[in-house]
Amino acid sequence: MHKNLLFDLDQTLLDFHASEYIALGKVLRENGLSFSDEIYHLFKAYNKSLWLELEAGKISRTELFTKRFLYIFEQCEGVVTNPDPLIVNNDFIRTMSENGVVLEGAMELLEQIKREIENARIYIITNGATINARGRIASVGMDRFIEHLFVSEDMGVNKPSMEYFDLVLETIKEPKESCLVIGDSLSSDMLGAQNASMTSVWFRPDGDIEQARKKYDIDYTAASFEELFQVIRKWSIDISV
Ligand SMILES: [Mg+2]
Repeated sequence: MHKNLLFDLDQTLLDFHASEYIALGKVLRENGLSFSDEIYHLFKAYNKSLWLELEAGKISRTELFTKRFLYIFEQCEGVVTNPDPLIVNNDFIRTMSENGVVLEGAMELLEQIKREIENARIYIITNGATINARGRIASVGMDRFIEHLFVSEDMGVNKPSMEYFDLVLETIKEPKESCLVIGDSLSSDMLGAQNASMTSVWFRPDGDIEQARKKYDIDYTAASFEELFQVIRKWSIDISV
């Protein structure tokens, strides 16, 4: 049996927001438009409201991609050189996938796990688009540590559903007791681990930690990569005996 470490990707190993910021700046500047922190925050806020409309079934993905760039063109100074929002959106997604940003200490953690934890296997469990996850991981050279990526777009199901974790176990072909779920999100990672009856580590917890631990039946918390390594080491010894 291996020690199967199921890592969430965004804000656990990679910085999604930093990649998004870089990509938006590049794409807008290349299109003759201005970019600033303010533009980035406007984009984030509008994008979020559109995703809520999408989840409510009010708009399609294509409409979301179109609307968010038409809106941002209006907010920027300058004359847009390529006014087709869907082309700009594609450029944005591709640029983001080429510009992964590692959270400080994440690469060292994975190296240390490979060096010091016997029989450890590292997997990624992430909701989102395949090109975005796979591309960002490859762009920073993190893929060399990773056994397999479980991306919701490929699988047709999302964290925190039980179906998602059932598919993970089917691929790994090892019992759930051999798995440790590590992530920053209560609503996808911790709830997912609870749904799948897997051991969990809440990474960089905030708010009312004790209440959350009870509600989601969280086994461990870790505020830093150093703490996270200690938790992984303790767990890997506990399941070996
Ligand atoms: Mg996350």
